[in-house]
Amino acid sequence: MTVVLRTRDELRSALAAAGRPVGLVPTMGWLHDGHRALMRRARAADATTVVTIFVNPRQFNVSADFDRYPRNEDRDVAICEAEGVDIVWAPPVDEVFVPGFDTTVRVGAVAGPLEGAARPGHFDGVATVVSILFGVVGADHAYFGQKDAQQVMFIRRMALDLAIPTEVIACPTVREPDGLALSSRNVHLDPAERAAAAVLHRALARAHEAWDAGERSGEALRAAMRRELAGEPLADVDYVSVADAATLVELDEVRGPALASLAVRFGSTRLIDNELLD
Ligand code: AMP
Repeated sequence: MTVVLRTRDELRSALAAAGRPVGLVPTMGWLHDGHRALMRRARAADATTVVTIFVNPRQFNVSADFDRYPRNEDRDVAICEAEGVDIVWAPPVDEVFVPGFDTTVRVGAVAGPLEGAARPGHFDGVATVVSILFGVVGADHAYFGQKDAQQVMFIRRMALDLAIPTEVIACPTVREPDGLALSSRNVHLDPAERAAAAVLHRALARAHEAWDAGERSGEALRAAMRRELAGEPLADVDYVSVADAATLVELDEVRGPALASLAVRFGSTRLIDNELLD
């Protein structure tokens, strides 16, 4: 049985009686197979699995994007139930950001480029809400998707820096058969945009092929991705990157593990994806 809780107090008392280790899967809802994979990882390793469903207003730069973010709690709870999740915490905003809330958590260099540069303030909102979730749940493990690679990196940094005793675990990206990474935002794509969006994964595959063939010029790898994207008229490229996998500094020459990543708009929907070159 999955219990659905709203307040911090309800959650704390449920957790006081729960078996350890506790695994946390933070989400914004509209759950899909990517989220389910995180729940399964938690179920396999932890005695108690907690899924949080909270569309965090502080991580949206554009309030219209927050307003149109898809929501369906009944459906989400049914998915959690099917995955054997013990606790769903779906709090109202003032249970997360308590009255008078006045703290921002900002991670440094690793949160700066890519999504950090493209969406000012976004990562401050994410870091702040994740530290609250870590504080309220006190989990032993927290599971995040590699689809948001930079997010996992700065959350690891934050947990280390703030002495948060929750282990941050990254899980592989779950994809559609044509390679498109599952995302709650895919629901906004019209059929033509949905078909076009497969170009993200193709572009990453081009970079990977070039890297496999021995290409080590960052610019050549980025150019391989841009060429593939240029063949898709509906793709409006935000950025294409080949960066150091540990620091996310853009690379002229790839000497160690690198992260190839990109952000592309299809109509009003912005999608991201990445692949490790290692
Ligand atoms: P979201 O609900 O989009 O904030 O995502 C919640 C968690 O699910 C984050 O850690 C995401 O990285 C992860 N996630 C989202 N999409 C996928 C996917 N396609 N595969 C694996 N994890 C994902």
